[in-house]
Amino acid sequence: MRPDSLFPLFAPATSLRGVGAALAKQLHRINLDRVVDLIFHLPVDVVERPLWPALRRAAEGKTGTIAVTVAEHVQGGPRSPLRVLCHDAEGETLTLVFFSNPGNTVGKRLPVGAERLVSGKLERFGAMLQMVHPDYIVDPRQPGQTEQIPAREPVYGLTEGVSNKRMRLCVQAALERTPALPEWIDPELAQRRNWPAWRDALAEIHSGEGSFEARERLAYDELFANQLALALLRGRTRKRKTEPLIGDGRLVAQVLNQLPFRPTGAQARAFEEVRADLARPEPMLRLLQGDVGSGKTLVALIAMLTGVECKAQAALLAPTEILARQHYATLTRLVGDAPVRIALLTGREKGKGRAALLEALAAGEIDILVGTHAVFQEDVTYHNLRLVVIDEQHRFGVHQRLMLMEKAAAPAHLLTMTATPIPRTLTLTLYGEMDVSKLDERPPGRQPIDTRVVSLDRLEDVYAGLARAIASGAQAYWVCPLVEESEKVDLAAAEARAADLQQRFGSAIGLVHGKMKGAEKDAVMAAFQSGEIKVLVATTVIEVGVDVPNATLIIIEQAERFGLAQLHQLRGRVGRGQGKSTCLLLRGSNIGETARARLAMMRETDDGFRIAEEDLRLRGAGEILGARQSGFPDFKLADPMLHGDLLEVARDDARVLAMKDPALTSPRGEAARTLLYLMERDVAAGLLRSG
Ligand code: ADP
Ligand code: MG
Repeated sequence: MRPDSLFPLFAPATSLRGVGAALAKQLHRINLDRVVDLIFHLPVDVVERPLWPALRRAAEGKTGTIAVTVAEHVQGGPRSPLRVLCHDAEGETLTLVFFSNPGNTVGKRLPVGAERLVSGKLERFGAMLQMVHPDYIVDPRQPGQTEQIPAREPVYGLTEGVSNKRMRLCVQAALERTPALPEWIDPELAQRRNWPAWRDALAEIHSGEGSFEARERLAYDELFANQLALALLRGRTRKRKTEPLIGDGRLVAQVLNQLPFRPTGAQARAFEEVRADLARPEPMLRLLQGDVGSGKTLVALIAMLTGVECKAQAALLAPTEILARQHYATLTRLVGDAPVRIALLTGREKGKGRAALLEALAAGEIDILVGTHAVFQEDVTYHNLRLVVIDEQHRFGVHQRLMLMEKAAAPAHLLTMTATPIPRTLTLTLYGEMDVSKLDERPPGRQPIDTRVVSLDRLEDVYAGLARAIASGAQAYWVCPLVEESEKVDLAAAEARAADLQQRFGSAIGLVHGKMKGAEKDAVMAAFQSGEIKVLVATTVIEVGVDVPNATLIIIEQAERFGLAQLHQLRGRVGRGQGKSTCLLLRGSNIGETARARLAMMRETDDGFRIAEEDLRLRGAGEILGARQSGFPDFKLADPMLHGDLLEVARDDARVLAMKDPALTSPRGEAARTLLYLMERDVAAGLLRSG
């Protein structure tokens, strides 16, 4: 059970002063639903707000504060903005621009003749210095007003309708609710690293003063929670006994016999390793690593068929709807007429259909369930779940993995698959001590992909190349990045690109993005699969797993904004059929050294593991990542790729604690348990009770 001390943190955001239903709805769009979400909504930047002595000494394009006297209000036409002309102490003019003036608030706050401190971004517009909608307007003669303008201010990721100021107030209100929690970090370590206490670290960062130590501490908390969950999971799975799955091999043989190709040597080795694991009385804990296109799905199928031969059920968990559907289609095709019942369950199966499916699942009338995280929702009951396969494992946290494992009657065998090339040391640390099978051989007949880096200035040439590809009967992906703060802006860019292509190439253009409804997405994907759509414009939703062999060209716009591993994944969408494939990396004209080096790397090699290691080296070499998403779901702040040393420390710390105090009952153990709940590793914390 969640400790009482955390109750205020898990209250809904509406429990906070100043957060009503309307604001809560807006916050919900970026998943800020609870107090705890707000305190972990860390600033992405800090703005300084210096007090400028005079406009002549102020920095154009920068944010700051200046004392002025209001001279005149100028309202052009009804459509033009209200301009308020002011003078600074030296008589220089500053124009304040307002595009809206509800209830003449501007008139009231800036009466002619009044002295005011105004703060905002200073811009030049022709000969004029202006400030559009200042962030602060205060009367310096009123006591306490000047102090309202902070000298430094955190900048938050925002959503429509919520200003930075508003967000700051929400976060501050959340912080006021935040209790000091007992320390879960080894005190000696905290002292050596100069880490502040948990609540102090948060408060510091949200004040805009955040020190390196404060950030490092919070990053460490994530790593430590993750490692502790793993340590608990490991202690539990390794020790427990389960029933071995030894099949008679008939289904496996039937399916292998009707394949249109022969398994590679690497696949055959992986089958053997998996089969040997399943035959043992301890649960399998195996990671199947293989570059994109190496044929992991078949290995998973063989494992699942072995289970089915033993009258057991298997679940295959995919990170996205599109992937789940594709896995379902692929498995159904591979299984052919072998007597195996496969079903699909995602967030979209609803109502009667879903109820019937759940009933069949509970009755054991389904052998293999493929789906998204819907497969471990509370009301999903299995008849005899014994094998869990997780695709793109890094997309799921330890926590989600545990949720699914809890569905099994006896400890389930676990096979996880990843195409994300992660250096080996990191794999072990992140995923625990898993056994690893590697598919280091590609199915024969694959053509190398011709990768080129092209400046966006040469868009016309790119269009011409695309036209040639389409004319020759090929299909193409056009990937637009998700980069802006606002998804809307990104989407608009993707839509504009699709419209542009539509105009040139006619109706054979499709657009797919993350905000689309499932059915719409399916329809587009199906049309692309069937060849009706020639060019699929997509945001990164196509990143993993999509398999359309006739697609031989992929164009990635603003390639410099993607991580190398991600680029590698995207590139893996082509080169799947017999045709010669090309990957065009479109780059901006103004990119830095590191970005250039990264793109050159993509051109040089298609070895995912080399790319991963190089990526790590280049990133370590100087790109400051700040608010960048690490791509690992357990981590918001920590980047396990970058904080490798910290991860090692966390691992050792977690292991020592788990060894000395396996039930987490000492004072520090209790504190660590609180951390698990705080980080929502409830299942991991729950393991402590159920043994
Ligand atoms: P990934 O490892 O990226 O998940 P998939 O399992 O999706 O790869 O396999 C990619 C493609 O290669 C699929 O179309 C699959 O049917 C095909 N494939 C798998 N194994 C072989 C093989 N041994 N020979 C030829 N094609 C294969
Ligand atoms: Mg796959």
